[in-house]
Amino acid sequence: MVYNLPQPLQQLFLPPSCLLCNDPGEGELDLCTTCLDDLPSNHHACSRCALPLPEEAPAGSLCGHCIRTEPPFHRIVAPWRYEGPLAELIRLLKFRQKLAVGRSLGILLARQLKRRRERPQLILPVPLHPRQLRERGFNHAAELAYAISRELGLPWSTRLLRKQRPTPAQHNLDRGERLENLRGAFHFIPSGGYRHVAVVDDVVTTGATVTEVARTLKRAGVEKVEIWAVARTPDR
Ligand SMILES: [Zn+2]
Ligand SMILES: [Zn+2]
Repeated sequence: MVYNLPQPLQQLFLPPSCLLCNDPGEGELDLCTTCLDDLPSNHHACSRCALPLPEEAPAGSLCGHCIRTEPPFHRIVAPWRYEGPLAELIRLLKFRQKLAVGRSLGILLARQLKRRRERPQLILPVPLHPRQLRERGFNHAAELAYAISRELGLPWSTRLLRKQRPTPAQHNLDRGERLENLRGAFHFIPSGGYRHVAVVDDVVTTGATVTEVARTLKRAGVEKVEIWAVARTPDR
């Protein structure tokens, strides 16, 4: 029966259908045009870290965090806010193993990045510790990075950036505690003389993970680190 075919085979026979409402997908996406329009846009955000800004803040402003402390990354691109249907999609990807979400969100994120002239030399997904990877069976950030790499025709690697120390869950920690929790957790194998790198993650919450990854890359000689994430969590 066709519905029991493995996912890649199903895609040969069946047009993609929307992961949220089952309507026909838009082109190659597993999302329909209505659900795409409903994704919460993050257009009014800090120009450095993509933190959603209050309505009264002028366009192009920096948030308080970025004014107080210069982040180690060049900027975060995060076109959507982590809420509503976007949060549901991330839940389907991470906890229901719907890898089609990673592919579709990766394609959507790549569409936002296509017009930029300056491109990174390498795409790196935020790694999981090998033990976490064994438990989960896949790295959701790598699913996104793979789709982005295909769309933009840029190389990616899951080997050069590693998580060398497992870190306890971060849900209940504030930003400072998260940074402390992650200190020294990542390792980059400097190779290829990469000067400009993009790091991919699903959601930027406090920014602690991408801050520590960017510090690791810069200490290893990378000059410019961009962060490409699907969504940004509003300030808590
Ligand atoms: Zn839909
Ligand atoms: Zn900011």
